[in-house]
Amino acid sequence: METASPSVAYFSMEIALEPDMPTYSGGLGALAGDTIRSAADLELPMVAVSLLYRNGYFTQHLDESGWQTETPIDWNPSDYLVEQPERTTVQIEGRAVQVRAWRFDVEGLTGHTVPVFFLDTDLPENTEWDRQLTGTLYGGDDHYRLCQETVLGIGGVQMLHALGYDQVQRFHMNEGHASLLTLALLDRSATQHEREAITRQDIETVREQCVFTTHTPVPAGHDKFSLDLVERVLDRSSEQFVDAEDPYSMETLRRILGMNGELQDLHEVTQGSDNRLNMTYLALNLSNYVNGVAKKHGEVSRLMFGDYPVDSITNGVHASSWVAEPFRALFDEHVPGWEEDNFSLRYALKIPREKIWEAHQTAKEALVDEVERTTGQRFDPNVFTIGFARRMTPYKRADLLISDLDRLRMIAERSGPLQIIYAGKAHPRDEEGKRIIQRIFNAKDALGNNVRIAYIPDYNKRTTRLMVSGSDVWLNTPKPPNEASGTSGMKAALNGVPHLSILDGWWLEGWIEGTTGWAIGTTDPETSNRTDDATSMYGKLRHVIVPKYYNDRSGYVDVMRSAIALNGSFFNTQRMVQQYVLKAYF
Ligand SMILES: *Cc1c(COP(=O)(O)O)cnc(C)c1O
Repeated sequence: METASPSVAYFSMEIALEPDMPTYSGGLGALAGDTIRSAADLELPMVAVSLLYRNGYFTQHLDESGWQTETPIDWNPSDYLVEQPERTTVQIEGRAVQVRAWRFDVEGLTGHTVPVFFLDTDLPENTEWDRQLTGTLYGGDDHYRLCQETVLGIGGVQMLHALGYDQVQRFHMNEGHASLLTLALLDRSATQHEREAITRQDIETVREQCVFTTHTPVPAGHDKFSLDLVERVLDRSSEQFVDAEDPYSMETLRRILGMNGELQDLHEVTQGSDNRLNMTYLALNLSNYVNGVAKKHGEVSRLMFGDYPVDSITNGVHASSWVAEPFRALFDEHVPGWEEDNFSLRYALKIPREKIWEAHQTAKEALVDEVERTTGQRFDPNVFTIGFARRMTPYKRADLLISDLDRLRMIAERSGPLQIIYAGKAHPRDEEGKRIIQRIFNAKDALGNNVRIAYIPDYNKRTTRLMVSGSDVWLNTPKPPNEASGTSGMKAALNGVPHLSILDGWWLEGWIEGTTGWAIGTTDPETSNRTDDATSMYGKLRHVIVPKYYNDRSGYVDVMRSAIALNGSFFNTQRMVQQYVLKAYF
């Protein structure tokens, strides 16, 4: 059943729906997919827009030394998606680029559908270069990225119109990549009022419609484009391409930028002396509601963006997508209705301990099998297992755990045996991220059988589910305050896997020491440094966690159970989407 007129349009550069549909790279896409699934469960009238990525992100290959190389992903969109007959045209560098859309229906628990449209420029009418615009996620240079964002933002608004979605009341930008949609909306407002120029009234109209979620706590992480480039990409310079269907022009932007007198804050769109368009400020200026993705991230964003009122809605995960089969069976039996009402997972507290343990061991066997299938290494399901999987990028500090191999050997000797399972991709141009993977491989060789390490290649949604349910503890060691939220630890909590993490992002909210997991370091990011964080992490493993696992099994299972009851019941997208409805959408 579909609602005739979706009133929320959700825009995201990446959306993870199926593990093998390579329309995502990591956390942002996983969050987008989970948001849409919960919106469908809650029967929210939503429609979503993203890009297709015919080459996906990439397939990760790791050689003997752990050096990553990448190959494009070969997939067939029509295996998953239905091509739509509608077309729209986006002006890019004066060329009329044809855009088509492919549809994926996300069906919720009651059969309500949220349609997701993946935009695609790979059409014979387009030039070779334009056909590649929806080729690779986060590939190419600034120029390529800005063209992609033009297709997403401006093409997306036009495509929704072409598809007949005319009742959209809220446009939700999931990160700044979609900010250009504001320009399409401004022009639409002016056109509707039969005006040439954008006025303050149009700005107010667009502001009423827009919601912006920022995800990046570091200034360098925000998309910025030189105004020269913006002008080149967006300007309808050649007269012959002036097209009433595509009313956006560089003039629009100039007018927005030139309205300092009227709207003080708007000059910040081009902050700094380098005269660049900052996609985050564009979205901030033109949104009625702005939020960060955890309480701490809201605070950090308020500091970063000065006067803008930035609220926070803490991220979540789509519970039933991330719960492993044995836990699904357990919840069905002991917490009936948990999928419709995730809050009821608090009643996991009454599930007998031995049932939790049994389900966990079954999930762990599945992970051990996956390790063997992908690496040839046979791990022991009775050995304490640390899981770590995420984007391999310096701030995530995946190598903190292997920074002192003697310490690891000592813990294994004195507290009990341990084994470590890693996964994660580095961005193709992130050399330091790639070197971190190599360091992990070096540690694997150096430790041999003392502490075994496995690295599962080509991390994807399927690997995630196996890892967050089959590990005994889920580790996260970001450099604070860089982790906006983090979500894999929430997936682990739903499977009764306690978290051992730096106090950053969502963990500041989910952490109850010794009850839902354990902290590394302190709540003050100022005190965080590599050495102290490593010492704190090793200390917890040596004196608290590994001894508890081997010598106090029932105490360990208490932590597992509380992780489900206290964190699984709250850090889910069902609660999160309800907060968006209350605070942001209506
Ligand atoms: C959940 C997920 C992430 C996000 O994990 P973080 O803890 O936020 O780093 C990244 N990639 C995949 C494939 C995921 O499923």
